[in-house]
Amino acid sequence: MENNPIKVAVSGAGGRMGKEVVKMVLADPELQLVAAIDAREAQDAGILAGAEPCGVAVQTDLELALMESGAQVLVDFTTPQAVMNNITTAIRAGVRPVVGTTGFAPEDIEALDKLCRDKGIGGIIAPNFSIGAILMMKFAAMASKYMPDVEIIEYHGDQKLDAPSGTAVKTAELISEVRKEHKQGNPNEHETIEGSRGGYYNGFRIHSVRLPGVFAQQEVIFGGHGQTLKIRHDSYERAGYMPGVNVAVKKVLDLTGIVYGFEHFID
Ligand code: NAP
Repeated sequence: MENNPIKVAVSGAGGRMGKEVVKMVLADPELQLVAAIDAREAQDAGILAGAEPCGVAVQTDLELALMESGAQVLVDFTTPQAVMNNITTAIRAGVRPVVGTTGFAPEDIEALDKLCRDKGIGGIIAPNFSIGAILMMKFAAMASKYMPDVEIIEYHGDQKLDAPSGTAVKTAELISEVRKEHKQGNPNEHETIEGSRGGYYNGFRIHSVRLPGVFAQQEVIFGGHGQTLKIRHDSYERAGYMPGVNVAVKKVLDLTGIVYGFEHFID
């Protein structure tokens, strides 16, 4: 029936983002939590997330959980090491992935896109589901047309596994689509301490700061004659990503192949 809620499974349900996803799904009558998967079992995904009990236990076997639950969508916020296997398993089972986990290489996304198309289903991979961050990326891409000398500085907590952040990589890709190609800076510069100029991407640099106490921030800095322009986004809490994840869970049912980046859903 048309009005049936969308059956959602969450992998990484015991993680910081996964718990927010569980709460978001439980709070939306258009969605139904049918499975929760994590590296460790738990009695009830709702209780684990700090919400009311929901009757869905946290299991460790993703394939079994998807098969038994009849999930239509798998939301994955796990680790760069686990995500490829999780998503491949989901697609093979005909379950549409909505992925927030970062750390993908471009060839991973291509492979998942092919797998989805072969199965005739869609998927969404978004390094950042927050609307402010998407606008920051879009504004940065716009500015790079007029001020092509640019560097990205991203700040995250010291336990983050991948660097640069998925958001920084995505920003760099969007900038590269617009920015006139040129290698900026002094061609004769050399580093006296290796890595001090940051990571190199298509002629410009990305710097990753990792410190306890930091959540998620990014600055894109443009330099021109006698001026700089800074475009900055600060995330303060994980709940800020949930409106975007909610939209993605609903949109993914209408897609074929992987859509990479939440900016495709913001006109
Ligand atoms: P986290 O707290 O470490 O949570 C990851 C969870 O996944 C943990 O509970 C972990 O269990 C579990 N896990 C590990 N391997 C698994 C597997 N094979 N199957 C199922 N669950 C597994 O990390 P987080 O802060 O929530 O972040 C998760 C990911 O989301 C990171 O890649 C982060 O960069 C990304 N992120 C994306 C956005 C976005 O908008 N796209 C926003 C914020 C964060 P154990 O701890 O027991 O190993």
